[in-house]
Amino acid sequence: MRIDIVTIFPEFFSVLDVSLLGRARTDGLLDVHVHDLRSWTTDRHRTVDDTPYGGGAGMVMKPEPWAQALESILRPDGSSTLVVPTPAGTPFKQSLARSLAVEPHLVFACGRYEGIDARVFEWAASRCSVVELSLGDYVLNGGEVAAMAVIEAVGRLVPGVVGNPESLVEESHEDGLLEYPSYTKPASWRDIDVPEVLLSGHHGRVAAWRHEQQVERTRRVRPDLLPDA
Ligand code: SAM
Repeated sequence: MRIDIVTIFPEFFSVLDVSLLGRARTDGLLDVHVHDLRSWTTDRHRTVDDTPYGGGAGMVMKPEPWAQALESILRPDGSSTLVVPTPAGTPFKQSLARSLAVEPHLVFACGRYEGIDARVFEWAASRCSVVELSLGDYVLNGGEVAAMAVIEAVGRLVPGVVGNPESLVEESHEDGLLEYPSYTKPASWRDIDVPEVLLSGHHGRVAAWRHEQQVERTRRVRPDLLPDA
């Protein structure tokens, strides 16, 4: 998968060299390119923002540097997907991560200030698919952290990125429920014992206990997930 990221803070993405994503890049599974939006400005101050029409606090990102950037990054055949992190977008969920993971080319537009001039996405919609997504019901300073979270969630679903594909199956949100609690050795630690059933070696009982735990944890922490699960 090819991933392009457009930002005014390319240094945010140094973490892409670390851990599983770093290895996936070295192995050629993820081909990631980070671009500085200011390279598509034409004035001496490399300006990317201006005051909002209609007044109000804050600045808005100017459309032209974005159009120049996207014109040089989007594939001409329309196969690119433009991912726009915004608190006003669709909530980002595992189901969306799964559908993005099969796309050949993702382009992340990281907004700052009050966001990007809305005409950019109207203009881009005839050139690619546009997905506006929100990481959650809160406001970050910029799209970089949100883009990084989406890249990690999507990247680990690309075949080969996570060594054992089975570890992707039994996870929170994969079947609509939260995951069961996990334990490792020793069986007794600081007077707290691992649930006896996990030591039984009885696969059927272990599976039933885990499912019960999933349902109980989901009911307690995220009851909103239960109707769909
Ligand atoms: N004025 C915008 C609003 O109220 O919707 C918020 C702008 S925010 C300060 C600047 C940028 O941070 C946004 O353009 C977006 O890229 C990013 N951002 C902030 N919160 C986000 C969230 N919950 N999910 C995804 N991106 C977010």
